[in-house]
Order: sequence, then C-alpha cells, then structure tokens
Amino acid sequence: MSLAKPDLSGRLALVTGASRGIGYQFALQLAEAGAEVIAVARTVGGLEELDDSIKEKGGKCTLVPLDLKDLEGIDRLGGVIAERWGKLDILMANAGVLGTISPVGHVKAKTFDELMTVNLNSVWRLIRTTDPLLRQSDAGRAILMSSSVAHSARAYWGPYAASKAAIEILGRTWAAETEKTPLRVNNVNPGATRTHMRAQAMPGEKAESLPTAQETASKIIPLTSPELTQTGMLWDVPTQSWQNYHLPS
Ligand code: NAP
Repeated sequence: MSLAKPDLSGRLALVTGASRGIGYQFALQLAEAGAEVIAVARTVGGLEELDDSIKEKGGKCTLVPLDLKDLEGIDRLGGVIAERWGKLDILMANAGVLGTISPVGHVKAKTFDELMTVNLNSVWRLIRTTDPLLRQSDAGRAILMSSSVAHSARAYWGPYAASKAAIEILGRTWAAETEKTPLRVNNVNPGATRTHMRAQAMPGEKAESLPTAQETASKIIPLTSPELTQTGMLWDVPTQSWQNYHLPS
C-alpha cells in the first residue's frame, strides 16, 4: 500500500473518539487531506479544539457531542447524515475504553457492560447505521480500531481484548458481505501510541519512546484512499503491513 497522503477533497468522514488521542489527530489529518469531518466524542472542549484547528486550515467540521453508550443516539446520527448529506465516504470507528486491568473473574459487571457497550455495541450500531450511507459512496472506506491484544490473550486484559477480537470478526464479516461493492472494510492495530489510554494501561512507562498520536494517525490515513483495494484485512501499524486472515473454505 502506498503511504502517500490521499486526496480526500469532497469526501465526508465520520470519526468517533475525536476529542483526543489517535482519533483527534486522524480527524485533523482527514481535514488536511480535504475531507469534511463529522467528529464524535463526549468532551466538548476537545471537540472545539479540533474544530478550531480544522477551521484554521480552511477545513470543514461538524461536532457531535455524543456518549456512545447512547445507542439510539448513534441511530439518530445516521439519520441526520442521511438527511443532510445522503452518503458517507469514510467511517473511522476509533473510540474505545480500556476498562480495568485485572483478573477476568474480578472485573465488576458494570465495568464489563460499559466497556462492551462503548467498544463493541456502539461499533455494531455504527456499522448498521452507516452501511447504507457508505454504499452510496463511489469509494466507501470503513476502519475499525482493534489492538494487538485481540490476538494475544494477555493476562488481565480480558474484557478489552475480547471487545477488540469481536470488532475484528464483525469487520471481516462486513467486508465479506460487501466484497463485490466499492466499500472496503479493514481492521487496524495502531500499536503502542502515546495517548491517555496508553498512560492508563502502562503508568510506569517512558512515554517519550512511543510514537505520537499524530505519527500513528498518519500511518492509518492511507486506508481512506479511494484507490485502496484491500478489504477484510488487518493493517498493522507497527510493521506497516497487511495481516491476512485465513478465509473459510
Ligand atoms: P484515548 O486517547 O483515550 O481516546 C479515546 C477516545 O474515545 C476519546 O476521544 C474519548 O472521548 C472517546 N470515547 C471514550 N469513551 C467514549 C464514549 N462513551 N462516548 C464517546 N466517545 C468516547 O485513546 P487512544 O489511545 O487514542 O485510542 C484510540 C483507539 O485506539 C481505541 O479504540 C484504542 O482501543 C485503540 N488502541 C490504542 C492503543 C494505544 O497505545 N494508544 C493501542 C492499541 C489500540 P471522550 O472521553 O471525550 O468521550
């Protein structure tokens, strides 16, 4: 895959978790490439900062302060996009929470349920509401954020890892169902990145040694290119390579 910045002029993108971290930088870079951005998160301050940065560069942004636990709110957002724009070109399902790092049997039910609602149920609701809109695009692109722990069964990361493994299979299924359309759907492992979530997961770590959110986002942006051919695959940012899945026979 060419890592050149795509030209996204005239394209409409929806980014969740756009108030900070990888989502914020991804939204900004989409706008820099010419896309109009619909930015979703709860923290209005972070969204407004993004809006200012995008407008400073002459870009266009619509802010949607929304808690993704409000699943009907996601359905309504799809309806608003359909009414106002009639299509969507890019979906970046990026928002996520870590939950608690603890033995799987010690996780509180409320924590588990909230994590699954934000990390998984909201992604399925996003898929459901944006699928018809992305199919209206001549080159719809969907990116679902995963993590290396989806494949590693790392001790104490159970709920988060399970949510990411489930996202990957949802993404692959969606890709299989849309293979013969222009829509391309891929999962992404962003790799360790200097963000709020990483600091929460690894409090003792020297963050300066990690890639910034800006660097990580720049290595995911090419997946939004209208020229992209891959679908149903995992883009691994640390190795900058496509990981193929074994397809059922
Ligand atoms: P982050 O800095 O903590 O940002 C998370 C984003 O998700 C924020 O914008 C947050 O916005 C949003 N979010 C969380 N709960 C939400 C809710 N209930 N409703 C709406 N938005 C919500 O994390 P990050 O490191 O950039 O992570 C981005 C993605 O990459 C996540 O899916 C994460 O699992 C994945 N990832 C990250 C790393 C890493 O090392 N950083 C590694 C592997 C995978 P508000 O709080 O404003 O709502």
